[in-house]
Amino acid sequence: MEVYRTPSGLAATQRILKRHYMSKRSMEMEFDTRVDLFRKRIKDSEDFKVQENVFDTHTLMNLYSLASKGIIDFLGGSISTGKEANVFYAFGSGKDLALKIYRISTSNFKAMQNYLEGDPRFGRIKGSKRSIVSAWAKKEFRNLKRSEEFGVLVPHPISVRDNILVMELVGSKDRPAPTLKDVKLDLQEAKRVLTAITADIARLFNQAKLVHADLSEFNILYDGEPVIIDMGQSVTLDHPMARKFIERDVENIVKYFQKNYRIGSADAIWSNLTVFRR
Ligand code: ATP
Ligand code: MN
Repeated sequence: MEVYRTPSGLAATQRILKRHYMSKRSMEMEFDTRVDLFRKRIKDSEDFKVQENVFDTHTLMNLYSLASKGIIDFLGGSISTGKEANVFYAFGSGKDLALKIYRISTSNFKAMQNYLEGDPRFGRIKGSKRSIVSAWAKKEFRNLKRSEEFGVLVPHPISVRDNILVMELVGSKDRPAPTLKDVKLDLQEAKRVLTAITADIARLFNQAKLVHADLSEFNILYDGEPVIIDMGQSVTLDHPMARKFIERDVENIVKYFQKNYRIGSADAIWSNLTVFRR
């Protein structure tokens, strides 16, 4: 994967400008100029040619700001282009990172709003598409953090800035971890993975008081251990749809393990859940 160097040193520039008593206005102009340069470099880079609608001005400013804060040092190629978000490789603070960038233009913000409204942490989010997508990314960040706190294996969340979520990369730069859907395990390993997922669902549910709400072989990476990802839509247990969501999550997992390995049952997973009874 081609690694693209992001321009850094904005903070240093600002310090120098301050020292020379430049007005706030001219500092802003300097910032805009740098963002424009950044945009041009991204446009010219092969890796980003097809990604036009991801890098709107706000997203570029946020990326640039993450770079100037030292959270990302390098921006790399694309790992995935999904329905709502693009995931890119990045590098920062000596670690391989995954940057999930929610596209403002193509986000299903109506659906996002519905999920956000049932969540007491967010409530009614009014305003622009941008503010809804921002709340969504922040929600994913908090869900990952909360999951991690209770011992659920998720990518370590690092930062969130508007529509950009920064987290640790699962796998390596040359080989990001595949999803469970794309691996073939031997039976012994499949059993071990199912046990780990069962324990994680229980931690998520009983302790973190969250339901993933889109759990399936598509949103679990396999890196020797199963790593649960994609938690933007995850909700607290008091969400009116929480019960429906946990039922569907359990069903998806059982379907996958039954179909591919002829193991697992909904009862076995439910027997670990203490909040709702089946
Ligand atoms: P889709 O619409 O395709 O489901 P999404 O918008 O739901 O995508 P995610 O499921 O969070 O976004 O991520 C999409 C893909 O990006 C994952 O399937 C995985 O391949 C990759 N990915 C996401 N996060 C990471 C990570 N932390 N480390 C490595 N790869 C990741
Ligand atoms: Mn996904």
